[in-house]
Amino acid sequence: MSREFSLQMRGQQRFSGDTRAWAPGFRYLATCFLYLTFVGADIQALEFKGQWQQGGMLIGTVAAGDSVDFDGRSLPVSEEGQFVLGLGRNAPSRVTLRVNSKQGEKSYEFNVAQREYAIQRIEGVPQRTVTPPESVMERIRSEGAEVSRARRGESQRLDFLNGFSRPLEGPITGVYGSQRVYNGVPKNPHYGLDIAGPEGAMVYAPNSGVVKLVHRDMYYSGGTLIIDHGYGVSSTFIHLSDILVSEGTEINRGDPIAKVGATGRATGPHLDWRVNWYQVRLDPAQVLEHFSNSEQVAGADGESVQIKPR
Ligand SMILES: [Zn+2]
Repeated sequence: MSREFSLQMRGQQRFSGDTRAWAPGFRYLATCFLYLTFVGADIQALEFKGQWQQGGMLIGTVAAGDSVDFDGRSLPVSEEGQFVLGLGRNAPSRVTLRVNSKQGEKSYEFNVAQREYAIQRIEGVPQRTVTPPESVMERIRSEGAEVSRARRGESQRLDFLNGFSRPLEGPITGVYGSQRVYNGVPKNPHYGLDIAGPEGAMVYAPNSGVVKLVHRDMYYSGGTLIIDHGYGVSSTFIHLSDILVSEGTEINRGDPIAKVGATGRATGPHLDWRVNWYQVRLDPAQVLEHFSNSEQVAGADGESVQIKPR
């Protein structure tokens, strides 16, 4: 995994990123630091933490008061100049970011590492979830719209800055991006991180936030919970057997929020945890790798579970 990237100012010189300490207060997020500086008549610093890779989340800093545009969207920027962006499963190999400051507008181009995704064949899910009957199409459509609304991410919370922890301990049984073939039928890629656990095992909030959606029985995802971490970043938990929080509730990292189940399109009890940046689906494993907060971990209160890989 490259911790360097090259950056190009429109048609001018090429710069290399190197590693350097982050702003005070973020040092505990010490995994990979990307830093770059422009020297010249006007000095401007743009810093990123994270990795320019498909599925990646990046937290950037600009000078206070600057504005940032990415992927056709004007990004919210905190008073300290922090912002977040996400790269989808099929993000192109080169993306452009624009920063508007007192010195004027500048465009930055970043190379995005392209990934290869595995094919995962899953047998034994309920056939009605592979080839749904016509009669449930309207239900599927309206549930999808409900989920999209919950991920609209208009809140100005800054929870996403504080790092993430695993919501459940257990073997990883499914990864982000894999092409899924259910009962022999190719379907959409898988976007979550699947963590196996026994039915009823406690799921803990990976980060603070506010509960945006509680739905006990969605067609594909069964018991579904969405938590907003601010600036478009959200967590979704699916196949739950029980949900312990209600919409509008503010929660803290490590709070018990739900119980593992096998509801919806699932072959057995597991947690499927998804991370979004608005409607862009990110890789939860990468989020944990680059933005981990180990101060609190899932099961820290002694309810951690150990089960055999299947
Ligand atoms: Zn899954």
